[in-house]
Amino acid sequence: MAAFQERPWGRELDTRLDGFSISLYRKGLFSYEKLSYPAEYGIYHEVAGMGLRALFDLECRLKAFKAETSDWPHPHDWIRITSGGELVYYSYGGYADAPSLYCEYYVPVPARGGNSIFPENPFAKSSVRHAIDSLPAWLRALAAVEARCDQPESREFVAGVRKHGDPINNAHKLKARFSKTARGTVPVLPPDTRHVNYNAIPLLIQDGCLYNCGFCTVKTSSLFRERSPVEIARQAFSLREFFGKDLANWNGVFLGQNDALACSPVTIECAIEAATRILEVKQSCITPPSIFMFASVKSVTGARDALFDLLSDSGFRCFINVGFESFHDPTLKQLQKPVDAGQVREAAERVLELSCTRKNLTISGNFVLGTGMSERHLELIADFMSTDSEAGKMPLYLSPLVGERNIGSLLRTVRRLQKEGSGRCCLYQIITL
Ligand code: SF4
Repeated sequence: MAAFQERPWGRELDTRLDGFSISLYRKGLFSYEKLSYPAEYGIYHEVAGMGLRALFDLECRLKAFKAETSDWPHPHDWIRITSGGELVYYSYGGYADAPSLYCEYYVPVPARGGNSIFPENPFAKSSVRHAIDSLPAWLRALAAVEARCDQPESREFVAGVRKHGDPINNAHKLKARFSKTARGTVPVLPPDTRHVNYNAIPLLIQDGCLYNCGFCTVKTSSLFRERSPVEIARQAFSLREFFGKDLANWNGVFLGQNDALACSPVTIECAIEAATRILEVKQSCITPPSIFMFASVKSVTGARDALFDLLSDSGFRCFINVGFESFHDPTLKQLQKPVDAGQVREAAERVLELSCTRKNLTISGNFVLGTGMSERHLELIADFMSTDSEAGKMPLYLSPLVGERNIGSLLRTVRRLQKEGSGRCCLYQIITL
């Protein structure tokens, strides 16, 4: 907090111009909390008027918007725009089951792709479509007030909005620019990034993954490759430039892509250094600083204790998410995952041991769910949660297979596993950038 106060922030300023109410440098909360309403975090700009309300980051990029009309699905709901230009509908209001199924008060529903089993598609609603369709004209009208701003801060803000343009019609350009900055793609964020509302800077320290499983829709199909310290530092500098002043609002870093724990300790140490010195995540006005990464059965069993000590002592809260998928050999075969149940069990036991002995380290596990999967697969997950006394220390995510249509049956399975297992488990949402 001290570092934040020393920064040269602009002053809070409220202006009314041509039907727009512009509030600059608003202050939100400074640590992510589990709240039943949509709080804003860090420092941001807000504009309301002409039927829409929108939030902008400190570089004047649009980051969220909603309609303020009576037919908007719920006053707490927002459409958020990821750094890579993807639209995600954050449903807070209309889904009472969200806290028990997702362990959050909101459900993020991506406009494209993902494994969402949300009971409806919010992007198909006419009020949501209308808000998206009217956004470009709304941004043009906002940009047009520049000449009439008497305060330099509001003039600078409106000029920034005009410079960035409309993220809906420019989505492809935005995506291309972001992939160039990140020097790769982010096919999925770890589910634990929900603890920072999926706001994590992607620092890719490796490409691909070790297994390329048949069922997986987020694999990159490239062979596992570790990036060099020079590549990681260059990437961190381009990310620093991309996020600009808004970097101060980012306290989470995702070390990607799909199996960062398989990297050497030297590479991981270099990434922690880049997150600290170049991205300055520990100086964010939002605390605490956090690192997220994926791991596999092989990388979690193969990593030495010293690597977990390094993460635990890094000054970051570290979240590692391991793809176990199943303890059942025929199911692993059906998923075309090239590991056996004994290896999965060994990795799960290693995680439990690490969870008991390392501070600042949370290791979660994923299991796959789908209609028609073996009953034994489900029994083994339930047994793991209920009979292993330490299993409660490992948060578990249940990941619906992409394209799953039998939502009713899937939800019954989730409820059953939640009831039978004493450990915590919730639904996994595929969110990309
Ligand atoms: S499930 Fe994990 S290990 Fe398997 S292909 Fe997907 S990203 Fe790779």
